[in-house]
Amino acid sequence: MHNPLLDMTGLPPFPSILPEHVEPALDATLEHCRARIAALTAADRVPTWEGFVEPLEEVDDALNRMWSPVGHLNGVCNSEALRNAYNACLPKLSAYATEVGQNAALFRGYQAVAAQEHLSGPQRKLVDNALRDFHLSGVDLPADKQARYKDINQELSALTSKYAENLLDATNAWSKTLADEARLAGLPESARALARQTAEQCGESGWMLTLDFPSYQPVMTYADDRALRRELYEAYGTRASDQGPHAGRWDNTQTMERILALRHELAQLLGFANYAERSLATKMAKDPAQVVAFLEDLARHSVTRARGELAELTEFARAEHGVEALEPWDLAYYGEKLRQHRYQVGQEELRPYFPIDRVLPGMFGVAERLFGIRITEVPGLETWHPEVRFFEIRDAAGTLRGQFYLDPFARQNKRGGAWMDVCTNRLHLVSCDQIPVAYLVCNFSPPVAGRPSLLTHDEVITLFHEFGHGLHHMLTQVDYPAVAGINGVPWDAVELPSQFMENWCWERESLDLISGHVDTGEPLPDDLYGRMRAARNFQSAMQMVRQLELALFDFRMHLEYDPARGGRIYQILDQVRDQVAVMKPPAFHRFAHGFSHIFAGGYAAGYYSYKWAEVLSADAFSLFEERGVFDPVAGAGFREQILEQGGSAEAMDLYVAFRGRPPTVDALLRHAGIAG
Ligand SMILES: [Zn+2]
Repeated sequence: MHNPLLDMTGLPPFPSILPEHVEPALDATLEHCRARIAALTAADRVPTWEGFVEPLEEVDDALNRMWSPVGHLNGVCNSEALRNAYNACLPKLSAYATEVGQNAALFRGYQAVAAQEHLSGPQRKLVDNALRDFHLSGVDLPADKQARYKDINQELSALTSKYAENLLDATNAWSKTLADEARLAGLPESARALARQTAEQCGESGWMLTLDFPSYQPVMTYADDRALRRELYEAYGTRASDQGPHAGRWDNTQTMERILALRHELAQLLGFANYAERSLATKMAKDPAQVVAFLEDLARHSVTRARGELAELTEFARAEHGVEALEPWDLAYYGEKLRQHRYQVGQEELRPYFPIDRVLPGMFGVAERLFGIRITEVPGLETWHPEVRFFEIRDAAGTLRGQFYLDPFARQNKRGGAWMDVCTNRLHLVSCDQIPVAYLVCNFSPPVAGRPSLLTHDEVITLFHEFGHGLHHMLTQVDYPAVAGINGVPWDAVELPSQFMENWCWERESLDLISGHVDTGEPLPDDLYGRMRAARNFQSAMQMVRQLELALFDFRMHLEYDPARGGRIYQILDQVRDQVAVMKPPAFHRFAHGFSHIFAGGYAAGYYSYKWAEVLSADAFSLFEERGVFDPVAGAGFREQILEQGGSAEAMDLYVAFRGRPPTVDALLRHAGIAG
């Protein structure tokens, strides 16, 4: 049988990739990778950059080229058969990753290369990263500790998935069916239709509310029925805990304690004092003290302002709606009322000004002016769906720098959300020259009845965000995949280019490029623009302190863990709230029991990364505020020092090279309307 996944030169042949190709292709590719690694580590000559590291980069690249289209199709063209094939491959991939991470011969090979003096900057960074990652995989531990390391990891992965299962089961277990539509007063039509459809799917009449976000969030934001909001607030805020309607049923309490204990033990096994230190080993932030000081500094600037915003909201609710005391389940509801009252601007009103056929060339125009590149569509390419478009990027000299697929619209069997993913990496060696290719995937409303797809302003921001990730991947000039593009970029810095690009969705000059009324072509009117800008910072200090609360809680919980005292989870959360929160939830509330970013996702002692990267992107943009939003020198600087460099140097060094100084929080606070 011819297997297209084993013949991956050039772009993936999407139309001919079938589910039955997946597993055999992965087996064959892993066999090839293992054989290459065995041969490279068995050779009896001293490992060198050219003879050892470069071939290993090609090994990784072969696996990526084969697997990337499979993972991608699983996201954008899911089917039962493909999902089964994909899931069957996951354990094989993770076993391979563990095996490589703990391969002592490979580790010694990189050590030998590291000892050589002639390495370039990017080469040195790649080798340093590799040694760090081997160390973090426990490769250099004595045998007994290595065994313990494996046990801990296995138990942790079982515990984190147990945590997620409990949360999912608890979320799914709760629902409320309403016989009378009057109780949904205030909810927009889309939320009512969803409630109706959910009831029908369960064979019930009436309207069914659940704790899934698309159901929960509109109730909290729009439902006039205060008792209903309170009921959902309690059900949501006590999921998988010892409180609420399902108290004790899927209780994560013990699981959380055990996760914290094991993370701490794991960190100490690797020579760190605590898990916060372990987390920072791969991040841009230097040490725990820097992270805590960073968060507390932002808090100092925002808390007073946030309290003022709450006081405003309280006064509005009292004066306009006769509410004497605001409760936590009132915040989103009256917040929305106040926002409408003050700015009268909604996402729907902006939609006609952002037809996708205007936004897309406008966005390319922004990137062309900023970075001196040219983006053109390449028609006629066979992809995975007729709506998918394909583009190429050339630099000022006409050199092809990257290519990307754009899959813009929502459809059946396509995962929700928006993302950029790597199709192929830049790989530039004597033996091969491969350019980077990206997938940009969004879920915008498709065109209906001959009218183009109209984006909300939030969707325009999403598009710029993912395009920013894409530019980081595609404009890289680093030759080795492990540190090219977004690879090897620390977690707390990787959102810099994406959030940076979002800024051009808010400037008059760039909005003139990306907006135009779908019927008249008229640019966004000044009055609407003014209201949109003003609404941007609505309750921004309250949002800021909420994020700081989560980040400080996550970080301190891992930093201050003490086996003798246990996790002290809610004790620490209370302390953090005393410091930064504007309103404390009631005693029954169990936020941590549903904080899956930390207990089931990859954000443990890393939630601060969101704010960290925001500081970088705001501070980077402030250079354009000083010099002009299309200043070509600033644009070239960002391209050369950030986008082209990828993970080939320390993130802080790259940033300083671009900005001429380390980042400060001033621009973020100013953009959020909090200071300056
Ligand atoms: Zn992102």
